[in-house]
This record gives sequence, C-alpha cells and structure tokens, in this order.
Amino acid sequence: MKVAIVTDLEGTAGVVDFETQTYPGARYFEQAKFLATEEVNAACEGAFKSGADKILVIDGHGPGGLVPEKIHRKAFIFHGRPVSRYWLMEQSWDALFLLGHHAMNGTEKGNLNHTYSSRSVVNMWLNGEKIGEIGINIYLAGWFGIPTILVTGDEAACQEACQYVPRIQQAIVKWGFTRTSAISLSHQAACEVIEKAAATAVKRVSEYKPAKPEGKCELLIEFLSSADAFIWQQRRDAEKISATTVRFTGKHFLEVYEKWRG
Ligand SMILES: [Zn+2]
Repeated sequence: MKVAIVTDLEGTAGVVDFETQTYPGARYFEQAKFLATEEVNAACEGAFKSGADKILVIDGHGPGGLVPEKIHRKAFIFHGRPVSRYWLMEQSWDALFLLGHHAMNGTEKGNLNHTYSSRSVVNMWLNGEKIGEIGINIYLAGWFGIPTILVTGDEAACQEACQYVPRIQQAIVKWGFTRTSAISLSHQAACEVIEKAAATAVKRVSEYKPAKPEGKCELLIEFLSSADAFIWQQRRDAEKISATTVRFTGKHFLEVYEKWRG
C-alpha cells in the first residue's frame, strides 16, 4: 500500500504563532520544523506498522516546513519548489494523510487559521460553501481517486476535515484559544496520538472512498486588499466580482482548480 502525506506546519503541537514560528526567518522556525518532522515520522511509523510499504512525504508548507535529513529512514520526501500543481496526487496513491493542517481563515478557535495566504486571502467559496486548504486537498486527492484517511492538527482543523470525510481518522494535537494561542499536547504525546491514528487509518483504508465534488464548479476568492484582487483579476480565466473578489468557473472541479492554480 502506497501512502502520500501532505504536510503543513501550522497544525503542529507546540507551533502556535506566525511571526515567531511559521514564517521563514522566524526566530523559532527551525524548532517548529523539527517538531513537524517528528510528527510526520510518527505517522510514518504507524503506517509502516500497519502494512504501508511506500510513503512519500510532500512538504506542503509554503517556504518548506520539514527537516529533510531527519525524515523517517524508510520514507521518501518531496521538498523544494516547484511541486506539481496537483501536489503529486496525479501519481497513484492508495491513501492520503494530511499532517499538521489548520482551519480556514476566520474559524473561531482555529489556531493559526488562514486560507492559503495568512496575509492576503479573507475567504474562499467552492460552489457557495466556504472552503479552506483542508477541503481543497481532500477534493484534489478525491479527483484522482485517492481517499483522505487521516488528518492531524488542532481540534478546529480536524472538525473541518470531518465535513468532507465524516469518519476520517483524526489526531487532535492542540486546541486553539485564539488565532495565535492554543493548548497543545506535549510533543511526545502528540507523536504517540499521531502514530496510533495513522496505524488505525491504514488498517481501515478499505472503509474510505475518495471525496469528489460533482458537476459544474465555481470558486470565489475574497482578498483583503483590492490591490491583490486587481492582480488576480488580470488573469485570463478570472472574472471580477467586486473590487476585492475574483471568480473562476468551469465544467468540473479540476478545470476550476487548474484555472486558479495556473
Ligand atoms: Zn503552512
């Protein structure tokens, strides 16, 4: 069984702040990356124990959020940029794990909540429903026939994933208090919870189906600044809805995804 793991940094236990931990050059960035890498390794360990035989870890945090030389000895790691616009989901994986993920922008008690850019995007809607990175990743994998079977992050992130995969395995490693503060499990406890959840997810893989949005598709993106929206509105496939909002439409999810990701 082949597992892909898409990682992010903001849903890691002990990582609660953008300025000091998740932005490149932040004072504790290297420490945050180390914590995330160890959580990923715990997921790999659990998955291997339950019979996974190949794991590719895909570093999904914008500027890179893992320590490649510390990755699990039996796993492969994709790092550096660019990565394929489909996050390598076009390769055939049997399952996807989302590690260290965070809730969409504006989520109450969602620690480090944001939607793609913590500095410029206010909201995204897919076919009228608000959506964040978790939903997009689950749908993208689903489009390629891959079920998402595990999510880790704070409680709000795990709840968000349940909207798309109701019985997804979850490892809650922190509870957001505000956008930049949270109660975390200890690092060691977080790794233990993740290892267990990953092992269970792999054992139960046959119970999961790929989550795929059907039919025509519309993606709306609302930006904080009209300056950012203006740049997006110049793109060939984009449509201006208001000074701060842009729209992409298409015959199906992947067409809209491609227009948006370029
Ligand atoms: Zn990130």
